[in-house]
Amino acid sequence: MSRLRLGLQARFLAGVVLLLALLVLVLVLLWDRQEASRRQVAEATREAMHALLQEQVRADAQAEVQQLAQALANPLYYFDLDAIGALARATLRESDVEYVLVYDPAGRILHDGSGDIAAYGQPMRDPLAAQVVAADGPSLHAGPQWLDVSAPITIGDQRLGGVRIGYSLAAMNAAETRTMAALRARFDAVAARDLHWLLLVCAALAAIALLAVFLLQRLLLRPIRLLGDAARAIEEGHYDRPPLVTRRSDELGDLIRTFARMRESVLRHDREIRRVAYSDALTGLSNRLAFRELLESRMRELNGVGRQLALLFADLDDFKRINDTLGHEAGDEVLLQVAERIDAIVQAQPAARATVARFGGDEFVILLEAAPEAGGQDVRVLAARLADALLEQLGQPLLLHGRRLFLGVSIGISVFPDDASSASLLLKNGDIAMYQAKVAGKNCQRFYSRTMDQAVERRVRMEHDLRGAWERGELSLAFQPIYRTSDRVLVGAEALLRWQHPVDGPVAPAVFIEVAEQSGLIEAIGPEVLRAACREALHWPPAPGAPEPPFVAVNVSPRQLRSVGLLGQIRDALASSGLAPERLHIELTETAVIADEAHAIELLGQLREVGVRVWLDDFGTGYSSLSHLRRVQVDGLKIDRSFIADLLRDPDDLALTGAIIAMAHSMGITVVAEGVEKQGQYDLLRERGCDLVQGYWLGAPMPAEAFARLLEA
Ligand code: C2E
Ligand code: MG
Ligand code: MG
Repeated sequence: MSRLRLGLQARFLAGVVLLLALLVLVLVLLWDRQEASRRQVAEATREAMHALLQEQVRADAQAEVQQLAQALANPLYYFDLDAIGALARATLRESDVEYVLVYDPAGRILHDGSGDIAAYGQPMRDPLAAQVVAADGPSLHAGPQWLDVSAPITIGDQRLGGVRIGYSLAAMNAAETRTMAALRARFDAVAARDLHWLLLVCAALAAIALLAVFLLQRLLLRPIRLLGDAARAIEEGHYDRPPLVTRRSDELGDLIRTFARMRESVLRHDREIRRVAYSDALTGLSNRLAFRELLESRMRELNGVGRQLALLFADLDDFKRINDTLGHEAGDEVLLQVAERIDAIVQAQPAARATVARFGGDEFVILLEAAPEAGGQDVRVLAARLADALLEQLGQPLLLHGRRLFLGVSIGISVFPDDASSASLLLKNGDIAMYQAKVAGKNCQRFYSRTMDQAVERRVRMEHDLRGAWERGELSLAFQPIYRTSDRVLVGAEALLRWQHPVDGPVAPAVFIEVAEQSGLIEAIGPEVLRAACREALHWPPAPGAPEPPFVAVNVSPRQLRSVGLLGQIRDALASSGLAPERLHIELTETAVIADEAHAIELLGQLREVGVRVWLDDFGTGYSSLSHLRRVQVDGLKIDRSFIADLLRDPDDLALTGAIIAMAHSMGITVVAEGVEKQGQYDLLRERGCDLVQGYWLGAPMPAEAFARLLEA
């Protein structure tokens, strides 16, 4: 679960909202306080006004009642009811006067301002009456709606009675209420105006806050976010986004510009690192890493689209030989030239889009697609055409320091999606196909097919089965007799390895020796062969007509030759068996000898010291010229059976064989002809002076016991 992130913007917004809320709260509180004080002022005003009015009314009333009491003194003294009535009526006419009562000292009503004076002589019955009558000065009583004032009427010290005036306060109260209403209305108007202002201030504050948020967003947050996004893009390796640009001259502008420069430099470094990591230092082509990435991404894009792509695995044939014979510098030069050639050929393909990579060593891989703009041809056709072009043009000699060099190339082709759905499998299958091209004789192309997997599987199984085969007694030696040509006397035998597979039966040496050679198992088997051959040969008697016991020729593979222990193994085999060194012949293939001439020369010298003879096997199939024979001094050479096979038909082979024999003899080298299957061949060889012969016509390879019997016969 991702934690909710409080971004800068969110925080700022929250802050602004909080601040705004606080401000509004303060304003509302202020407003509320103002409302309260307005109410208090109104109340105080009302109370003051009320008191003032009361005061006023009371003073007026008391003055009026005093005045009336004085005015009534004489009429009452003379008991002039008319005058009393006139005065009372005059008072009664006043708007707020409710009643006027003139009474005698006993409290009986003398006049009430009416015409008939219905209450005349009656005592006042209202609750205040007793107090009023008892008072010996002016008195005043008030209720909320009324005011009662009275004053005694006197002449000198004599009390004649009193007068009471009742006022109604309704008018005053109404006026007070009106005034208060008007006041309140004004207060309300002020409050409304204040509220207006308040709201306006709030709105202004909100607007300012919004503006601040907007400005902050535009000037700070957005650039920061863009910077963040850009940094993340770089972190994720997306360098294709357009860089940030700004015209700002402030700190953020500086930051953005610095960032842009930093991005540039990261980009440059990244490009440089990629260039180094993704290209082959020698040829400048893509390397394995870059190629794999390209292949994977193309496969992803093409997946399900129904388009194909082909992989061409090209491996130079016997490139190691160049490295070994001419040195690594020459090897690099050759690789460079080959790379240029391959690139040129690939670029010249009309209907295809292709990328070349070097996978290290002498392996070049090409990713091939049909160019859609050229109609999208079948990729198999294009791949076959490209492979043919490569074979043809890489077959042209290379020029290296004035020397012409011939190179072959084996090409394996695998097709997506037919042969594999993953990049690694497609590469593996291309490799398998290439290997099959090698097996098929090199310098050719092969499309991957499922049966190749079986071949590879067989090979893997064979390697597995071959391990420990000697210890289990599955491996044995056969001996093929070698005769002197002149008189057909048996002079020696070649030891040939045989493998009796517990399930598959006998396996062809050409097949399993290749596996043993490539897997390195030969380094364990080779010494055993040497020991066994020596042990066997020790007891051989001389053949009929032969002056001495036959020699035994043992094959030594290129890998054994390269290993440092060979001399020791030979010495060991001789010592442990007790065989005379002259009776042991070592057969080396000429390619192995040329591959490391210096080492071979040294070893040959040491072997000669030991007394062992050295033969050059399969002579004529490799690259060696006779001039090699001068430098690498061998005791004999075996003309390859391919020459002997055509001896009777091909005059060229006959001429060549004759030349080889003559040349070898001139250098004091013995010549053996291998693969003599017909008497005619034998006759021709004897005619040309070939020293020794070997072949089915004379005797096929046979088990040790059979060979021993042959010697005794
Ligand atoms: P190689 O050394 O050239 O051996 C001669 C091959 O020619 C043998 O094949 C032999 O059986 C065959 N051969 C002999 N006479 C005739 C003939 O008249 N006609 C035909 N068509 N072939 C004939 P093999 O035994 O199958 O051995 C094949 C190769 O295996 C050998 O060629 C040798 O290079 C290698 N090899 C055999 N044994 C050993 C071994 O113990 N160690 C090593 N390193 N290689 C061995
Ligand atoms: Mg041989
Ligand atoms: Mg041979």
